[in-house]
Amino acid sequence: MLQETTNRRLCLAGMGAAVLVLAGCGGGDSTAPVMSADSSGVSTISASALAATLATYPVVAPLSADEVASLLQMREEEQLAHDVYAVSATLYPTLPIFANIASAEATHSAAVKTLLDRYSIADPLAGLPSGTFKTSAFQILYDALVASSRVSLIAALQVGLQIEEMDIRDLESAKASPNIDNADILMVYDNLERASRNHLRAFWKVLQAQGGTYTPQYLTQTAFDAIINSPIETGR
Ligand code: ZN
Ligand code: ZN
Repeated sequence: MLQETTNRRLCLAGMGAAVLVLAGCGGGDSTAPVMSADSSGVSTISASALAATLATYPVVAPLSADEVASLLQMREEEQLAHDVYAVSATLYPTLPIFANIASAEATHSAAVKTLLDRYSIADPLAGLPSGTFKTSAFQILYDALVASSRVSLIAALQVGLQIEEMDIRDLESAKASPNIDNADILMVYDNLERASRNHLRAFWKVLQAQGGTYTPQYLTQTAFDAIINSPIETGR
């Protein structure tokens, strides 16, 4: 039943974007949700579901300069999340949240890479090892967040909340931009934002269990509270 509802929503959403979507409304894997969340909130993007869903959207090229800049930014930002959590997973191996969310972030970064490939935009991370970024601002941020994460488990969980907050802010900002309007990009960003809200909920729950506190860095306290006090979201 849930599956049916999800499929219908996906098809209706797609129909606004392209008549081609009708070919993808027959059910089966082609309309599986792009993002799925487990009971703890870990939210993974399926490469096959993403490919099937993207096939129902038109390629509207060339992208605007803002669309290109946003995709390049989100590719590095999602990779930063993965790379920071991967370090925390080795620092605090008794807590599965870091390894689990790191794996999910790899699928987020890959989803943005899929969009870069779709529009023949060079990958800013091509040839760069884990923990290395093309943009100096991301390198500085990564180094600072890893240094903070090494301080304590509580600090590493707070870094997780900070990263997810930053993702939510940047995805919200991109979705609100009048120059970022390609339906395929907005579909991926909508799923990434749902995933980020789920990760925020997941980190918050573990931080609370560990006795930690947190002050939002990028979102208002009201917006932060609204997210952590609402249930885990499904993908589209
Ligand atoms: Zn992410
Ligand atoms: Zn996340």
